[in-house]
Amino acid sequence: MDHAASPPFPGSGSGNAAGGQSHPQIVRDFDAAGRPRRPLIVCDFDGTVTPFDVTDALLERFAAPEWKRIEQDWLDGRIGAGRCMELQVALLAVSPRALDEFLDSVPVREGFGEFAEHCRRNGLDLRVVSDGLDYAIGRILRRNGQSGLPVIANRLLCAPGADAEAPASFRLEFPHKADDCPAGVCKCRVVAPDAPGPCPEPREKSAGASPRPGCASPPGGDRGEDFLLIGDGLSDCCTARLARLTLAVRGGALERRCRERGYRYMTFTNFFDILRNIEFP
Ligand SMILES: [Mg+2]
Ligand SMILES: [Zn+2]
Repeated sequence: MDHAASPPFPGSGSGNAAGGQSHPQIVRDFDAAGRPRRPLIVCDFDGTVTPFDVTDALLERFAAPEWKRIEQDWLDGRIGAGRCMELQVALLAVSPRALDEFLDSVPVREGFGEFAEHCRRNGLDLRVVSDGLDYAIGRILRRNGQSGLPVIANRLLCAPGADAEAPASFRLEFPHKADDCPAGVCKCRVVAPDAPGPCPEPREKSAGASPRPGCASPPGGDRGEDFLLIGDGLSDCCTARLARLTLAVRGGALERRCRERGYRYMTFTNFFDILRNIEFP
């Protein structure tokens, strides 16, 4: 087992946002005319690259049942998504080895490898931006031959010195948290830090979603934000307002939101649909 793939993730968490000055963001490279050199494709992970939510599946399998009560607190608007995950991850009781075995059983959506390869060959800047667990994402991507993809996500840490075979304790850190956003990773801030106003998403998952006053969300593309968004769920909605085009998993919350708000979008069920239907710049 190579070093990068070994399960315990030392608890020191040193790499936290350098000095904590500005919100971490995707740094882009522009030409003299101010156009991005490489078209950016922002891709969600849970429920998009994978056919289901990996964090939920882990909790279902390895967490004390109390995780569902916490989930309900989030659904009822008592806590934000980031806090919800922080509490839930603390309930995980699984050995590093069993965690890895589980992660190695998670499939990726059909055509994802081909899509990533297409991006690589054509100079498209494909990045995973997720409100899920960095370790799970890294492991699943590596196993599927995509270890080179940049990932922005929450940081899963295992108690130092954990035995690979014994149930370990875990915690979550938030290197990409924005103070005024309830998510662990505020995706719109990461992708478009200059977008006006605070993240307009409702404080909690279940709220009916009207943007806060003073932060009228422009329909996708009107600001000329030059990126494509691929996603499925509520954590992608704030970013969809800024995307040139959103590719939404058919039947998911993101598709509904795009339809209701008039964002420019298409639906897909697998990554071959995207390869077939989208003419990339
Ligand atoms: Mg998702
Ligand atoms: Zn946001």
